[in-house]
Amino acid sequence: MKYVLVTGGVVSGLGKGVTASSIGVVLKASGLRVTSIKIDPYLNTDAGTMSPFEHGEVFVLDDGGEVDLDLGNYERFLDVKLTRDNNITTGKIYQSVIDKERRGDYLGKTVQVVPHITDAIQEWIERVAMIPVDGMEGPADVCVIELGGTIGDIESMPFIEALGQFSYRVGPGNFCLVHVSLVPVLNVVGEQKTKPTQHSVRGLRGLGLTPNILACRSAKPLEENVKEKLSQFCHVPAANIITLYDVSNIWHIPLLLRDQKAHEAILRELNLLGSGREPNLLGVAKKLELEEWTKRATLCDMLQEPVKIAMVGKYTGLSDSYLSVLKALLHASIVCHKKLVVEWVPATDLEDKTAKEAPDVYKAAWKLLKGADGVLVPGGFGDRGVQGKILAAKYARENKVPFLGICLGMQIAVIEIARSVLGLNDADSTEFDPETKNPCVIFMPEGSKTHMGGTMRLGTRRTYFQVADCKSAKLYGNANYVDERHRHRYEVNPDMIPELEAAGLSFVGKDETGRRMEIVELPDHPYFVGVQFHPEFKSRPGKPSALFLGLIAAACGQLGNVMQIMQTSNHDAMPSTKGYTSNGSTLTYMPKTYPNGNGVKPANGSLNGTIYSNGNGVHV
Ligand code: GLN
Repeated sequence: MKYVLVTGGVVSGLGKGVTASSIGVVLKASGLRVTSIKIDPYLNTDAGTMSPFEHGEVFVLDDGGEVDLDLGNYERFLDVKLTRDNNITTGKIYQSVIDKERRGDYLGKTVQVVPHITDAIQEWIERVAMIPVDGMEGPADVCVIELGGTIGDIESMPFIEALGQFSYRVGPGNFCLVHVSLVPVLNVVGEQKTKPTQHSVRGLRGLGLTPNILACRSAKPLEENVKEKLSQFCHVPAANIITLYDVSNIWHIPLLLRDQKAHEAILRELNLLGSGREPNLLGVAKKLELEEWTKRATLCDMLQEPVKIAMVGKYTGLSDSYLSVLKALLHASIVCHKKLVVEWVPATDLEDKTAKEAPDVYKAAWKLLKGADGVLVPGGFGDRGVQGKILAAKYARENKVPFLGICLGMQIAVIEIARSVLGLNDADSTEFDPETKNPCVIFMPEGSKTHMGGTMRLGTRRTYFQVADCKSAKLYGNANYVDERHRHRYEVNPDMIPELEAAGLSFVGKDETGRRMEIVELPDHPYFVGVQFHPEFKSRPGKPSALFLGLIAAACGQLGNVMQIMQTSNHDAMPSTKGYTSNGSTLTYMPKTYPNGNGVKPANGSLNGTIYSNGNGVHV
């Protein structure tokens, strides 16, 4: 096993996670099997109890692990399935050491940060790196470890010490340290300043770690003399200094790494690059094929015709709070050749209370909602904004606007129908009104109200389709069942199903018992779908989640076409853009549907300058 450690210096928020994922992509493209570990030096056992407002979304894994959103980046970029143990936290490490101490495993010894915590960290890394994550047997070749936080943080000290010991133990040639840093530009003179990186590298060395590669964030590519200076002061060869300059979308990052031969530098440090005459170890390829990435990055830049989706949520504007939902929308929009425009609608702004207190805010929110091509109500907890979400679902239902409700979004759609159609004015979830006489959403029997961490219905569960010709089954490629990830405590009250069905709601997906509602649809609506699970977590670039694809396709008038394509293609539950292409480009997804609606490909330059042409008349 080879290890690539990614650390961050100077400031937080440099995009270390995306950099580490992109390193994984170029290593994978070099022919290696890649796994990853994210280290979060906080005391929480996992991200499950952390507010999305403070820490971004809680990403959910197949095994029910509630983890840092960076694991989502790894899963999406590397197309792997990670386990909860791939996210190490201070809380988990201390807990394991304290449990051992209580069992008497250290009998007689004083238990200390060094060596007990540091040993536990190293053992954890070595154990988890061996878990296969890419669907193949046996361990990966390389494990990319991302250390959260910034060098110098008190919290990360035990991890730095452990990783210093670890790098010494596995030895040079098996360990490569990539330090992500910032090279700011002073506006007055436009000069790229190296001092912050120098200091940060010095800090790293002082802690016993030596960087092999510097990945420098900067607005523009680094000047040659700046690279030389960095090389001299940081003792890193100039060929190992990569600039991650600003790009239009994150899919360019692996391309940036490739263009600057970052993969070669890493492979060289890991003794995986043959000297030229003898074959490379592990059959590592020198020339990288990143065709899919190139196409996607370019296409994403070119799309102009918008599809507007109103996101009616609690933490609007905070894209990290709904990161996977946004990614899933983006994946689907790109496949439909539309430019995604997300209209953030704060749920509370739609409420009657706001109409009285801040009429302008209220009007603006409704204008946004009404201007959207589709409405999405994401998951959530607690009653703030619930009324506004209900109003958004009602608007979408009555006005036949495409709607996707996820988890809480499905629950509020059910409440809305119970209230508006069945006339049960006090219908509610017991999460918001424990005393309601019409509890259409109730607490699940197996949950815990007293213990928060890891006590929800979590991870992959199977949903069986009940109605063969419903829209969701078609979008999932006529699947009989689908495995998706869950994270909830409440569910639709199974005793109220007959009433809700009489109101026109169709429960098209249920769990294996038939008592738990997983997917609802309104058959006489262009696209009104609610799901108890979170399809966003399994969406991949180039393989968008079926139900997001349904929403976007419906929002741009393509649903019939897309459903047909999904049914004819030969794949299991998750759709893939592979297999139904007309011209070898896996992203040319709807070959006969051009935005002029007449099935005729416009001449060079195209309609609205979008999709077909990159300005040179070249079909992308
Ligand atoms: N609060 C709801 C529940 O616990 C919905 C959860 C969610 O949207 N993830 O069931």
